[in-house]
Formats: sequence, C-alpha cells, structure tokens
Amino acid sequence: MENRYWNPTMETMPREQLRAVQDERLRDVVRRVYENVPFYRHKMQQLGITPGDIHGVCDIEKLPFTEKHDLRDNYPFDMFAVPRSEIVRIHASSGTTGKPTVAGYTSGDIDRWAELMARAMYCANVGKNDIVQVAYGYGLFTGGLGAHYGAERVGASVIPISGGNTVRQLMIMEDFGSTALCCTPSYALNLAEALEKEGISLDRLKLKSGIFGAEPWTEDMRKHIEEKLGIDALNVYGLSEVMGPGVAMECMCKNGMHVWEDHFLPEIIGEDGKGLSYGQQGDLTFTTLTKHGMPLLRYRTHDLCTLTDEPCDCGRTHVRMGRVMGRTDDMLIIRGVNVFPSQIEHALMQVEGVAPQYQIVVDRQGILDTIEVQVELNPSMMSDTIKDMETLERKLVNSLASHALINAHVKLCQPGTLPRSEGKANRVTDKRKLK
Ligand code: ADP
Ligand code: ZN
Repeated sequence: MENRYWNPTMETMPREQLRAVQDERLRDVVRRVYENVPFYRHKMQQLGITPGDIHGVCDIEKLPFTEKHDLRDNYPFDMFAVPRSEIVRIHASSGTTGKPTVAGYTSGDIDRWAELMARAMYCANVGKNDIVQVAYGYGLFTGGLGAHYGAERVGASVIPISGGNTVRQLMIMEDFGSTALCCTPSYALNLAEALEKEGISLDRLKLKSGIFGAEPWTEDMRKHIEEKLGIDALNVYGLSEVMGPGVAMECMCKNGMHVWEDHFLPEIIGEDGKGLSYGQQGDLTFTTLTKHGMPLLRYRTHDLCTLTDEPCDCGRTHVRMGRVMGRTDDMLIIRGVNVFPSQIEHALMQVEGVAPQYQIVVDRQGILDTIEVQVELNPSMMSDTIKDMETLERKLVNSLASHALINAHVKLCQPGTLPRSEGKANRVTDKRKLK
C-alpha cells in the first residue's frame, strides 16, 4: 500500500489552499482563546490587540508566545478554553522538574487526535490487516493511548501491552504475529537486544514497521534498529501540551516528519524571538488550530530543529521537520562547548565494536567540567586483548572530539551492564547540579 493516504484531500492539499484553511482556523482559535481563557485575553490586551487584528497566518507574529511556565502558573485547569464538563480526558507530562503540565481534551479533540495518528499509521503502511503492539506507556503519558486510538481508527488489531515486561513483549510479538511496533526508540533497541539474548530469530516474527518517538534519536540508531528488527523504523513526534504523538510523522521517504499543518501551525523561532526561515535551526513553536479543550498560541517547545517546505516524494504537501537534536534544556555545556546527547550518540555509532548503549556522566573538578562517556562493548569484542581495547577507546575519544567537539573520557563497559530503558531513556547524569 505504497503512498496510500488516510486523508488524501488534506494530506495532499496544494499549499495555497492549505494556507487558506490555516488562516480561517487561526482566526477561529484566536477568538476562542480570547473569549474563554483569561490568560490569553490578558496577554492580548497587554499587547494591545484583539481577535479582529488577526486576519490570518501573516499576522502570527502579533500574537504572544506561550511558555511551559505559563502552563504551570495556570495549573491545573486554567488554560482550558471550555467548561470542565466538556473535557473528556486529562493527560499530563511526567513533571520530574516540578508541577507537571496538564492537557485537557474534548471528545472532538480525541477524535482529531485519532485521525492524525491514523494518518501516521498509514505513513508507516499500517492498516486494517496489521497487528499493532503498542509498547508506549499507557497512562497520563500520551504515548500509549495516542498510538492506540490511531491504530484502532485504521482498523488494525491493537495489542495494548504498554511498556516494560520485555520477555513477555517478545512472547506476544511472536505468538500474536505483531506486524507493527510502537514505542520509544530506546525501548525498541532494548527489545531488539532481548530478542538476540532469547535466541529468537527474525524469521519467527512478522514485524515490518516501527513507529518510534517521544525522545531524540539519530539516523545511525535508525539503521541499527532496522537491521536488528528487520523493519522500517519511522520517526513520530509529539508533545502532551500540543496533543501527544502524531503532531508530525515521517513517511516512507524517511526524510523528516510531516507536520499536520491543517491542525498545527509550526514556526521556528531564533534566539532573539524572531521567526526564522525554512532550513534554519531554532526553537520549534506551535499554534494549535483545531484544539478546543486547551488551544495554545505559539507554544515554545524548546525542541531544536529545522523545517522544510520542499516537496516530498510521497506526495504529501505538509512541511517536514528534521530530527529534533534535543530540547534546549537537555543541552550540556562542557567547558563552554554546547553538546547534545544525540551528537554523542552519533559520534559513538561511527565506531565499530561498541553497542549503542551509553551513559553520559558530567562532573566538575575544581573549576573544570569533566565528561565521561560510558559505552558498552559489543559481545563479539569480549575475547579481544587489552591492546585492542585501548585502540577502541582511542577511536571513541577521537570520534567524540571530531563529531561532538568534546574532550571526553571514555569508559568501556561489559555488555549488558548499563541501565536499559522501557520508556524515555535517561542517558545523562549531571553531577554538577548536585554540588
Ligand atoms: P515530557 O517529556 O515533558 O514529560 P512529553 O511526553 O509530552 O512530555 O514529551 C514531549 C517531548 O518529547 C517533546 O517536546 C520532545 O522534546 C520529545 N520528543 C517527542 N517526540 C520526539 C522525537 N520524535 N524526536 C525527538 N524528541 C521527541
Ligand atoms: Zn513524505
């Protein structure tokens, strides 16, 4: 089913027409938040604007930004734009750094979310004949239920197994003949490794597609997972504040994720708060065009990436976002050098002999920052000599210096000794923060 679209009219709509849809929807959402959300009414009043000043996307820069702390200040329900009785679902972010951010959905919002995840399923060639194993966590986290509703919408048979319990995941995958897997890329890696450990060969499985997201990963990791699981591994993006998974989804061209622009208006914002052009890297920002429960104007995700409007071979006309390098909050500053964990992942994966399992430990000795990258050896390397190990270590140090521009200490670890992820991987320990 190459190039089958779930919603051909919207997914392949000529861009001028798509813009007209956005113009109309933007006017509508601005009016709704102005009338129903005191936070936005005050912000717009401070800026001296009323909904009548917003004629369409060309006026987007007149509107205020929304930051995560604004959602926290209005915790839990004050950003809702409808009476609480209209809200049928509440999700929240993990909230490890303070109060979680909350998102409320009307039944219409849930319906639109299912539609967008259905588009995502079709992007991955997943349809009614498929068996979809949803190994994202179910709960306040949006991953599980988002993938679940999308897979059901296309008529697939859904296995709501949730995250964790890895050996059981493999048994179900084999016995039920799962054809698609939805989880974080780090959990996909964990599952691939467990398959090898359990001695389950790929010909016993029917897996063909993976819909992986919720955390940054690299092209190198995609290749690794595709090979180990014998699948097409596709990137899916989303965040609970804006909807959950399915805000953007990669097609089989594997060259960036289509942002569903009839529902979300993306912008890339530079450090000075001004909009950047296509191709320039900056902070991804979304205005939700069709959400009713909790619409957001110009929400700053702080995810660093680029957008492109170059036509895609799949025929979809919606802009594509590149891989997210990381959130600006996740950027490490080591002796003045900025580095993202995803750059470290890329550097490690250029060197043969190590497994894609790593941990980053940042510390400070005196006034100097130190960074140690712990990386697991491939099981096949275990018989090698100390000299081989030293050579490998040197190669890794050099790769980190040339690809991530950091001077790191590398620690080679025995296979299977670093922590494995069942959801979003936590690969960084910053001991400087504890001092
Ligand atoms: P939180 O992680 O804040 O608890 P969410 O579960 O809503 O909340 O996570 C959303 C965040 O996850 C995004 O802002 C982004 O940083 C990250 N993310 C989601 N999908 C991807 C992806 N495909 N690639 C990189 N990062 C992603
Ligand atoms: Zn495409």
